[in-house]
Amino acid sequence: MRDPGVAVVVEDDLDVRNLVSTVLTQSGFVVHAAGDGRAGVEAVKEHNPTLVTLDVGLPDIDGYEVLRRIRGLSDCYVIMLTAHNEEIDTLTALQAGADDFVTKPFRPREVRARIAAMLRRPRGGLTSEQPTTTAAAPAPEPASPARPDSVLRHNGLELDKDTRTVTVRGEELVLTRSEFDLLHELLRSSGAVRTKGDLVRVVRGQYYRTETYISEADERAIEVHIGNLRRKLGEDPRSPRWLMTVRGVGYRLVPRRAD
Ligand code: CA
Repeated sequence: MRDPGVAVVVEDDLDVRNLVSTVLTQSGFVVHAAGDGRAGVEAVKEHNPTLVTLDVGLPDIDGYEVLRRIRGLSDCYVIMLTAHNEEIDTLTALQAGADDFVTKPFRPREVRARIAAMLRRPRGGLTSEQPTTTAAAPAPEPASPARPDSVLRHNGLELDKDTRTVTVRGEELVLTRSEFDLLHELLRSSGAVRTKGDLVRVVRGQYYRTETYISEADERAIEVHIGNLRRKLGEDPRSPRWLMTVRGVGYRLVPRRAD
């Protein structure tokens, strides 16, 4: 497994902080722990993590506000630890830009599985591991300019999967990993419908690929990610350019426009 890099754990409860730090250390991360929100934001600024776990209930500023501040600094993978299994919490977390959430009390096994799924997801400079592409993409050449086949274009939007950048009419969008992965999946499906279950697997990775039960909450999470994406894309709900809802099923790409 490649080096996962740095993780920041933001959690005021010492037992939980130690538990999560241990799980992450076992997964290969260099872990920095912070006991409140401000220290957490500082740690992100200083250590440039690939992963942050973030408690919602913190003594100084709440986790959602911490998340907003982190999102101003980083597109790292953020797992929110929500206090109870209340949908409102998990939805708020996703709306504020979290990639995933785990509800307390949680089992270390569950956190480990989520992290493992995250580590398997394609990252900048790595080729897609999705099974439905027609041919394996060649290994990226170091320091080469963007290869044309790494760029997907649709109705004024350009997505470069090597650099993980998205531009709309030349302007770059700041997307979370989950938002990027969903947009990439819909673009490369070229108009085929992707069910919410398909998309759960896209953002959760292999752990969810087979046999795993996909809950309503998982599907709701996809709806929230898509809602965030639409907002960032500036989609007009009456006349979308990219993301079309297929009622009761999932989503697909809007057909190409002439303009
Ligand atoms: Ca707490």
